[in-house]
Amino acid sequence: MIVGIDAGGTLVKVAYTRKGEVHFEKYPIAEIERVADWVNGLGDSKVCVTGGKSGVLISLLDQPAQEMVEFEATHLGVQVLLKKMGRLEDAYLVTNVGTGTSIHCIQNNVHERLGGTGVGGGTLIGLSHLLTGVTRYDDIVDLARQGSRERIDLKVKHIYEGKEPPISGELTASNFGQNLFAISEDLTKEELLATVIGLVGETVSTVSVQAAHQCNSSTIVYIGSSFIDNPLLKEVVTSYTILRGSVPLFLDNGEFSGAMGAMSVL
Ligand code: ADP
Repeated sequence: MIVGIDAGGTLVKVAYTRKGEVHFEKYPIAEIERVADWVNGLGDSKVCVTGGKSGVLISLLDQPAQEMVEFEATHLGVQVLLKKMGRLEDAYLVTNVGTGTSIHCIQNNVHERLGGTGVGGGTLIGLSHLLTGVTRYDDIVDLARQGSRERIDLKVKHIYEGKEPPISGELTASNFGQNLFAISEDLTKEELLATVIGLVGETVSTVSVQAAHQCNSSTIVYIGSSFIDNPLLKEVVTSYTILRGSVPLFLDNGEFSGAMGAMSVL
């Protein structure tokens, strides 16, 4: 068997081929030993590991495994997944919204990291938990879908009352920026969670669109597990990216880009 593993800050992503078919699995990082046990039980196999926790995983393996730099693995994996979707792009930006957010420019097959932001999936979970007490990722994204940001976010049109604003009035002037002191006790979990996702989505898309100018590309490929079962984050990122003049593209199985890239070198 051929196995690519991306051991990240929050989740371990696994891609493997069995009978010519690619399979994907993901596990919480707390279960890294379970992943190692599974690999150790495979017998004759080739394994390549990437991600920040690759050293930890390799130390748990019985057999030697290949190791790969995370950004290189992600770049290769994105190419494979783009091809599977029938997309052939010469220049594009990749924004990986993992625990944190990392932004890369790919031009003529050359890859360069442009930067990132500490606002990412970890912020989504952490801030959500602090504000509402909700712990599970699935619950956070489900409740957020039912919430409105109307009472919490301050929009440009709220500031330019009775006057035409110089930029779209629908843009957020300040996330969590309304006068919340009077209503803080009254806000629902759904509203708070929707606003956290708004903050994360608008931050990653704003930074991405600015980086896209440096990359001579209008296509922004969004990947990372923060988009899993999270239609609200996709919606915020899509509308903000389009509003700011770029074209968003969500890769099918994009959260497995690193694992796919690691597998593709074997
Ligand atoms: P990393 O490689 O840093 O682990 P990922 O691309 O796997 O990053 O994304 C991690 C983020 O994915 C989390 O911060 C969280 O927002 C989101 N996520 C999706 N599914 C889960 C899950 N089952 N448990 C925890 N976080 C999840």
